[in-house]
Amino acid sequence: MISIQKFTVNPFQENTYVLYHENGDCIIIDPGFYEDHEKDQLLQFIKQKNLKPIQLLNTHAHLDHIFGNKFVADTFGLVPYMHELELETHEKATTIGLMYDLPFDAYSGKPELLNESDKIKLGDDELSIHFLPGHSRGSLGFYCEKQGFIISGDVLFNGSIGRTDLPGGDFATLMRSIKEKLFLLPDDTIVYSGHGPETTLGQEKISNPFLS
Ligand SMILES: [Zn+2]
Repeated sequence: MISIQKFTVNPFQENTYVLYHENGDCIIIDPGFYEDHEKDQLLQFIKQKNLKPIQLLNTHAHLDHIFGNKFVADTFGLVPYMHELELETHEKATTIGLMYDLPFDAYSGKPELLNESDKIKLGDDELSIHFLPGHSRGSLGFYCEKQGFIISGDVLFNGSIGRTDLPGGDFATLMRSIKEKLFLLPDDTIVYSGHGPETTLGQEKISNPFLS
């Protein structure tokens, strides 16, 4: 069984998730740790739970989701995994950080690539990968069918949707990702978004003002 720990970090209040299995393995998704005290929070949690990080995943490569990639990669000997269509944004991360007046040490190696045919293993559990472009070109969602949750990045939020005005964003594409892909999953699927509180797909179908 997978447990989920959320850290809300950096000036963008981004949600970083640690998914951990009872065997002690864990996966870190979208490490947004910017300040040292945020990095310490992760280290303390890992130590306290006696976890072993085995994979680093990015739903997409926007700045707020990758601030901590290098820290996590260096600390635990991991390589970030993301969709190929995020590489261009990822390569510009240092420059984009300076544009936002948020200098940081970006991960400088070559990320590993993920696509929909891949599966993420965590103990005896598994996550499938859903390609959900629109907020960014290569946004991915990580779905656990057995426990009924998805780590959805910035595609869908509690009461809102991802912005589409950044490079690679496209409103019609985002709507298709939500309505023709995400919404095919069961209504009681819990959505862990890149920002804000959790929700369910059923809740958003009824009440999200952008989707009615
Ligand atoms: Zn984003």
